[in-house]
Amino acid sequence: MSDDPAPASPPDDDLRAQQYEAIHNRLFLLRLALTLGLLWAYLLTGASTLLAEGLRARFGGWWPVVNALYTLITLFGFSALMFPLSYFGDYAVERRYGLSHQTPEGWFLDYLKSLGLELLLGIVFFSAIYAFLHFLPGSWWVWATAFYVLFAVVLSSLAPVLILPLFHKIEPLESPEIVAAAEDLARQSGVRVVGVFRWGLEEKTEAANAALAGLGRTRRILLGDTLLKGYGRDEILAILAHELGHYRHSDIARLITAGTVLAALGFFIAQAALKGLVVAFRFGGPDDIGSFPLLVFCLFLFSLVAMPFSNAYSRRRELAADEYAVRSTGSAAPLVSSLNKLAAQNLAVRRPAAWLEFLLYSHPSIARRIERARLVEARLPGAKQPPHDAPRARAP
Ligand SMILES: [Zn+2]
Repeated sequence: MSDDPAPASPPDDDLRAQQYEAIHNRLFLLRLALTLGLLWAYLLTGASTLLAEGLRARFGGWWPVVNALYTLITLFGFSALMFPLSYFGDYAVERRYGLSHQTPEGWFLDYLKSLGLELLLGIVFFSAIYAFLHFLPGSWWVWATAFYVLFAVVLSSLAPVLILPLFHKIEPLESPEIVAAAEDLARQSGVRVVGVFRWGLEEKTEAANAALAGLGRTRRILLGDTLLKGYGRDEILAILAHELGHYRHSDIARLITAGTVLAALGFFIAQAALKGLVVAFRFGGPDDIGSFPLLVFCLFLFSLVAMPFSNAYSRRRELAADEYAVRSTGSAAPLVSSLNKLAAQNLAVRRPAAWLEFLLYSHPSIARRIERARLVEARLPGAKQPPHDAPRARAP
């Protein structure tokens, strides 16, 4: 866009980024419409009731088995119907824009692994919810929330040691210089030294990423090898400082806490709505697995409404981590140049429409992050006045 204060990449790149984003936005809407359409078709055609009754006829009083099998067949069928969209959105588009260099077979293997994981987690999650609905019909939403917290904590702890390694190699970072600098940075920040790991993205994607993952003993910083390759030492340290900011601010725990508040609200609303809905659709009760599409509909709708709020919270945490990075490295320049590189490498739109950023972005736009980083730098004690690039930073 013409008023971008930091156009570090040629306009062609920004155009490509906008096309890439437009495709993903349309896919998001299509996925949403299809999910809602399939849920209602499943309910209104009676297919859901038919499956539940068929399983009950076969397994009688073993309702946990009925529920688990119903969940497995339903989630698998849904994934199968959505497969063309998954292939197009998660693979074909990535290939077309040069972000992925996986073979179709390699991608399909990853797809099967994540499908297996989703089915397993789905069965555990919904089996627990339906057990609460069965035994504790009045207070199931409280137990469901407690289970959600347990689920989130266990998954966050296991992610870097059990889940991420299913898809990428994760090894301790060999570069002694970066590790020593990271430990220095951690010590200066008063943060207990954490493990820094190399995240093997390169064999599958061109995109760069870094993350703080895990909880307690599994908590670690992951640096994508796609990022270690093309970035200077100061740029890598700025990104590390950003991740240390998340660490220092306990952002994983904060996000789980915020997620818990939203989950409690979502389950509470679902409980109130289900009471009337199961009667209207003539189900035996909310614990009748045949009414699964109604429960999922309530939770899905709530998560859509909640998404802008959880995204807004996530964007605040990201800006706080950026601020921490600028303060601890004493300068905005390395963070700004790494953000510019990340934007070009990952085909990010630098300044998306404000409403799109508000609704869908878990991270602030690159333009906003750069403006904020420069603002924080200008307020640092002893900051040079004015910084050499101040006029550009103040552009509209
Ligand atoms: Zn971050």
